[in-house]
Amino acid sequence: MSDVHANLPALRAVLADARAAGAERLLCLGDLVGYGAEPTACIDLVAARADAVVAGNHEHGAAGLLDPAWFNTAARAAVVWTGAQLGDDARAWLAGLPLITAMDDATLAHGSPHEPEEWDYLLSPEDGFAVFGAFETRLCFIGHSHRPAVWSVGTSGPDHEAAFAAWPVEVPLRAGRRYLVNVGSVGQPRDRDPRAAYALWDLDERRVEIRRVTYDVRLAAEKILAAGLPRILADRLARGL
Ligand code: ZN
Repeated sequence: MSDVHANLPALRAVLADARAAGAERLLCLGDLVGYGAEPTACIDLVAARADAVVAGNHEHGAAGLLDPAWFNTAARAAVVWTGAQLGDDARAWLAGLPLITAMDDATLAHGSPHEPEEWDYLLSPEDGFAVFGAFETRLCFIGHSHRPAVWSVGTSGPDHEAAFAAWPVEVPLRAGRRYLVNVGSVGQPRDRDPRAAYALWDLDERRVEIRRVTYDVRLAAEKILAAGLPRILADRLARGL
């Protein structure tokens, strides 16, 4: 999962869905904090459960490793607010996360496996195809754009899909092909679908499934307003933008 963005109702809904589906491990692709109202609770939940976590730009912003000036106005307000909420332990945990790691046959990065510290957005087909040389595993999982997408390369040519008509999205992992998968965002989807997004990776069945989960969007929005964060961060959740 990626881009929880301190949205505890969405995180809880995704963890429950994953548990019901039989998920045994939890991989977190960064931006656990920022935008939402419950950074510490989200950190506590994920730090206790995750088998691997990489840092996103919001971890670096909140922990003081990335200048708040890098962010747009609303994001900057959230980064500064989040930084002030964190205790020393949480800040140290965020600051110590790696930018890239691997689990089994998958590389994990927030925005891109190529120079992850640049926080590039992989959006177009070409953006994704260009980074297959930056990882050696068969799979790479990313987030950051908050938009689910799948790129693959192999003997039968390159393939890219980003507009999905039906959920869940099934991605069979075919022999002789490599895959780059954007798992979407748990806490602030931006593909006009307000439901939380995450992916299940089944090593036995050799497939990835990108799933959507309904959660209490209104509750998450109310918490953002009650925290005094910018209204746009609450309003966008219902529109999935
Ligand atoms: Zn994000």
